[in-house]
Amino acid sequence: MAKPSFRTHHGMHDILPDESPKWLALETIVRETAKRFHFHEIRTPIMEDTALIARGVGELTDIVSKEMFAFNRGEDKYVLRPEGTASVSRAYIQHNLAQLGGVQRLFYIGPMFRAERPQKGRQRQFHQFGVEVLGSAEAVADTETIAFMIAVIQKIGITRYTLKLNSVGDIESRTAYKEALVNYFSPLKSKLSEISQQRLEQNPMRILDSKDEGDKVLVVNAPKILDYLNEDCTAHFEAVKTQLTQLGIDFEINPLLVRGLDYYSKTAFEISSPDLGAQDALGGGGRYDLLVEELGGKKTPAVGFACGIERLLIASEALGLNLVKDHRPDVIMISLGDEAQLWSLKAAQELRAIGLNVTMHYSVGSMKAQMKNANRENAKYCIIVGDNELAAKEFVLRDMDKSVEQKHNWSQILAQLSPLAKSL
Ligand code: AMP
Repeated sequence: MAKPSFRTHHGMHDILPDESPKWLALETIVRETAKRFHFHEIRTPIMEDTALIARGVGELTDIVSKEMFAFNRGEDKYVLRPEGTASVSRAYIQHNLAQLGGVQRLFYIGPMFRAERPQKGRQRQFHQFGVEVLGSAEAVADTETIAFMIAVIQKIGITRYTLKLNSVGDIESRTAYKEALVNYFSPLKSKLSEISQQRLEQNPMRILDSKDEGDKVLVVNAPKILDYLNEDCTAHFEAVKTQLTQLGIDFEINPLLVRGLDYYSKTAFEISSPDLGAQDALGGGGRYDLLVEELGGKKTPAVGFACGIERLLIASEALGLNLVKDHRPDVIMISLGDEAQLWSLKAAQELRAIGLNVTMHYSVGSMKAQMKNANRENAKYCIIVGDNELAAKEFVLRDMDKSVEQKHNWSQILAQLSPLAKSL
């Protein structure tokens, strides 16, 4: 019988031990940034009710119409979440987070699932960190949300990026704008791609982000949303621009940056990087003042963004950044004999208790094999213990970088190593 052979699904990846330190480093940057901005973490289930995602992301989007991993179990319809905003909004409503008072400033980190065609920077299981601010209609909330995303990007060390900014108005502004778009595109309908012809009927704003080259030519002269904003939306957009300028955050106005759904409003933004290739968005977001109501909650203005973690890692690698500061063990215990190993087991615990990162060789092999392992583990020091050392209560402390070693009693070793101690 053939041996079974199992592999991950297409577009889904293991994060192996040699990669996980940089993931941890990046997640730590997100958490530290959240602490600085005083945002709180929310963790929602990976599966949601399919109807929530259909409504929250939009029936007409590619995500819902083509890319959901969904299945039924009994009466219940499950979907692996493709993004975080619908889940966070559901949790906000379900647990009545509004009753806590004030504005909810939330962040999340976790896997998302979309059945897309995998390519560089595009996977079927990928990871996002995101921020959602619920309960504020103020432009400052938009600006702080953008500032959070930029803070993470800068802390990683990504220097080459562009913030694209637009306003998609509110329903009133958009009704006027959609009419202008239909008037502009209708005489050109036969020249539009098939998908854009459909969108002309269903959701004309989505023609603006068409990938079709022919459509792109026609889009150049199409009316611009910014000319159709009402007074409230214009004032909001101006305030966001002034605040970003105040923070020294550069931006580019891009009137083609649209979110086609009616519950998106006012600010829309995206941050792209030239180091990513075809899929060049690091992240994006915007205001969604009507979504919570759409999902059954009270009217709650909100703004947020999501950023792709794989893409942040691709950009940081392209720039040669090293996110992992120190992944070396401070000490590796080398024991020559069973009794020595028993002693080392306890000594390792003592060193860990004072704040050192310590590993040990599990099998009591030859000195040569254990030293080879100490080099592979890239330990800063090793402590070598054999029967003679146990009898004399003096142990060999070897500085692996300098290749020098000396015998010390245990309290001298503790004194010498204690400067390496760090808190967890
Ligand atoms: P979106 O929710 O589509 O606006 O996505 C927000 C961010 O998540 C994007 O800017 C990407 O960085 C990342 N992202 C979205 N889809 C994928 C995917 N299939 N694979 C990897 N990253 C993705």
